Amino acid sequence: MAADLDLIDGHCHVSDPRLAPTESHWLTECAGVGIRQFILGGVDPEDWDRQIAFRQRVAPLGFKAHLTFGLHPWFVASHSDEECERAFADLKNRILFRAEARDHGIVGIGEMGLDSLKGEMALQKKWFQKQWQFAQEVGMPVVLHVVRAHSEACEILGMPRGLPGGSGIVHSFSEGPEIAMEYINRGFLLSISGVIARKGFQKLKRAVVQVNPKDLCFESDAPDQPPPRLNLGTTRPGETGPSFALNLPTAIRDVAETIQVLRKDLSINQGWNTEKWLGESRENLIRCFDLYGNG
Ligand SMILES: [Zn+2]
Repeated sequence: MAADLDLIDGHCHVSDPRLAPTESHWLTECAGVGIRQFILGGVDPEDWDRQIAFRQRVAPLGFKAHLTFGLHPWFVASHSDEECERAFADLKNRILFRAEARDHGIVGIGEMGLDSLKGEMALQKKWFQKQWQFAQEVGMPVVLHVVRAHSEACEILGMPRGLPGGSGIVHSFSEGPEIAMEYINRGFLLSISGVIARKGFQKLKRAVVQVNPKDLCFESDAPDQPPPRLNLGTTRPGETGPSFALNLPTAIRDVAETIQVLRKDLSINQGWNTEKWLGESRENLIRCFDLYGNG
């Protein structure tokens, strides 16, 4: 029974105010398909506070929210160096003693990274570098957000470490096999979102059939990056593309179903079904974020 499972959405923003009005409704939907754990991606100090409140709110309902705190590259790109300095001091304060951070359900540092679509890179590089260094100092896995700046990001990450799934996740990975191996060799999981179910994304589809299942995990990135199932078939005034409903953690099932179809002919995965893939993602996330050690 799907409802008996204990599946994990590897990356989402379910404490986002856009999802608050329908929270009890979509939590019920998640429970109905066995999704009971969420790993939240951090954006800025206000978001970290919302994550803490969400964790406290859903715990009595039988859901576990694992928190990650970081300065998102979009935050860095839209704030001054001084503002980033203050937020980073706040971040360090909240994390500094790992045991204490664990008591509050903080399992990693991030989102952090580089987004070349969001303007100026010098500050993004500086704050990515600082956060990555800090994560290594405190021995915590990270959540990467990297868009069209993979060689720069890998340069900052340094030499491959070869620790399977120990470094963190590359959130919404959508590149091809070569870049996939750059991250896997540095100990990262490729976190695959519902965009893989859309038309196109051929590079990504080539990558996910080539890598070892232990190097993959699944995320919704809710309320963003909806799978095609949530296309409302209408166009909002002033927009050219179709409108989508807000995305939900249930999108990890779309990811698993797509990967199951893409890989069903490979001898290594004969006999795997959607449930087996969701279980694989779960185990990889537990290993990566040490979730067994986190109450
Ligand atoms: Zn995110």
